[in-house]
Amino acid sequence: MASTQSYPLLCLENPLLDISGKGDDAMIKQYGMKLDDTVLAEPHQLGLYDDLINNRDAKLVAGGGAQNTARGAQYMLPPNSTWYIGCVGKDQYADTLREACKKEGVHVEYRVDEKAPTGRCGVIITGHHRTMCTDLAAANEYKLDHLKQEHIWKMVEASKVYYVGGYHLTVCVPAAMALAEHAAATNKPFLLGLAAGFIPQFFKDQLAQVTPYADYVFANENEAKTWAETNGVSADSIPEIAKKLANTDKVNKKRPRTVIITQGTEPTLVAVQGQDEVQEYPVLAIEDNQIVDTLGAGDAFAAGFLAGVVSEDSVESCVKKGQWLAKLSIQEFGPAYPYPKKTY
Ligand code: ADP
Ligand code: MG
Ligand code: MG
Repeated sequence: MASTQSYPLLCLENPLLDISGKGDDAMIKQYGMKLDDTVLAEPHQLGLYDDLINNRDAKLVAGGGAQNTARGAQYMLPPNSTWYIGCVGKDQYADTLREACKKEGVHVEYRVDEKAPTGRCGVIITGHHRTMCTDLAAANEYKLDHLKQEHIWKMVEASKVYYVGGYHLTVCVPAAMALAEHAAATNKPFLLGLAAGFIPQFFKDQLAQVTPYADYVFANENEAKTWAETNGVSADSIPEIAKKLANTDKVNKKRPRTVIITQGTEPTLVAVQGQDEVQEYPVLAIEDNQIVDTLGAGDAFAAGFLAGVVSEDSVESCVKKGQWLAKLSIQEFGPAYPYPKKTY
């Protein structure tokens, strides 16, 4: 009998192809967006992708928040450490994503949708700003049935650490919950990223369903503020928000919840359930002229942090690994990591 392949880290979310091109304020306005927005595409915005490709010399690179995170974690871990799940279409774009993951050593188990094309994230680049519009398409077709297939679920059971990107909460909460419940029942770490402001804002109930299972929650300062605003928590101080989020209800009582809030070049905050003090870890900021692209900084941070969790590091060491990888990633175009590989 074939033995079950096993990878310690599983990431779940939306596999997307990033279509990134230099735009301008007029283009952002034309597609009804605001600078630095992250939105799900409405029908009137679907022309953006061809516009970027045909008129803005757009580059096509592998994206999707937690897929970037999976690739980043694998960058820091021994071979065969990471696998990734999501839904793609039956097209060339899906092959591009498969190739990118293969090159970086991430094993993928995509559900392939027969009808919808692979999802796309249009990125309008203006200076250091990134305005993003996502057409989920096939990524929106992920189904619990795929996760529960015998050969997949065996691999889930063989994994040790689970990460769900918050964008998946618009897609298939039952799949996120299946991983969350399994992690809690077996006392394995379950990590959740808030992904973008619109998740705590418009998918508050879905987030509230999964959060009690989260042993670790990642957010940037804006996502943390939005979570506070939509949950009636005073939003004056980010450390206070971190503490409140850390101390919300938790299912697996064997692990206190850890909340990690990144704030760009400002210190990374860590609050642990039941602890009074919020730890601050300063960021060794790089010069502005060394920054190529801050897109995916948070994904890369989560990746380094996850690599630490898989290696059973201290929280401090996990934060340092996250900051190290984020710093490398912002010196690359798109959500990417440098080759030849740098070692931590
Ligand atoms: P997001 O991409 O989700 O908005 P942040 O902007 O908070 O995430 O960035 C995540 C992490 O990336 C930061 O905590 C920091 O470690 C790293 N980072 C961001 N900007 C810089 C910078 N200029 N120099 C070095 N590290 C940075
Ligand atoms: Mg940021
Ligand atoms: Mg982010």
